[in-house]
Amino acid sequence: MELWLSLWSIGPNLTETDLLKIKEAGVQGVEIWAEHLKADEYLRLANRCGLKTGMHLPFHDLNLATFDPVVAERTLEVLSEWIQRLADHRAEHAVLHAGYAWAYEDRHEALFKVKERLHVLVDIASKAGVQLLLENLIPDKLNYTHNFASTVKEWTELLTDCNLGACLDIGHLAIMEEDPIDTLKKLGDRLMSVHFSDNDRAADLHLLPGDGSNITAGLCDYLKAEGFTGPLVYEINPYRYTMDEILLNVRDARL
Ligand SMILES: [Zn+2]
Repeated sequence: MELWLSLWSIGPNLTETDLLKIKEAGVQGVEIWAEHLKADEYLRLANRCGLKTGMHLPFHDLNLATFDPVVAERTLEVLSEWIQRLADHRAEHAVLHAGYAWAYEDRHEALFKVKERLHVLVDIASKAGVQLLLENLIPDKLNYTHNFASTVKEWTELLTDCNLGACLDIGHLAIMEEDPIDTLKKLGDRLMSVHFSDNDRAADLHLLPGDGSNITAGLCDYLKAEGFTGPLVYEINPYRYTMDEILLNVRDARL
């Protein structure tokens, strides 16, 4: 199993020295945070430092479930541009959010739109040779909006219908109140990447493993035993921890 770090964890002002330090700590790859304004530069720098790369595609201002055709067009345009850029840099994967329905009552209609647009992106990514991964999201427990996908059932159906790989966010899953091992069994071979952090099962705090309710306990052993080889991506709150604190924890991780 490979240990990766999400660059969101480091904050928006990253240098080549930071990336070299990350590599030295035993990190094999970095997931570039597309909404860092210098994301494109980080992609080049990470390559130069000999780190494998993937990307968390942008999702702010974008929505694959939108009813607004202009927003939909722009969303597909931005995501397609990044997928092509990732292919040019030989990045390994791109993680995607499937957007949200404006209102809970509209979720069935919005789901059709999500599927249609995911098919378009899957086609672009497969032609570009980039693996597209769909992430599970936090449910809006108020039911004001509806995030796709915020139940395991909805997520696994989207993965199968659109032929996508899965990026399992363990923190989101805890807030979904779903069991990690049951979910991993349902995902089977679709699991390609894991976003790894701890929380209190109520808020998506992105804590270091062990600093919350210990939701990651036993997970690495299970994944190892199942022969999971994909990246385990530390996605840690940059507003709470320094890079050194994160790397100290990463060095101690036994994968
Ligand atoms: Zn995400």
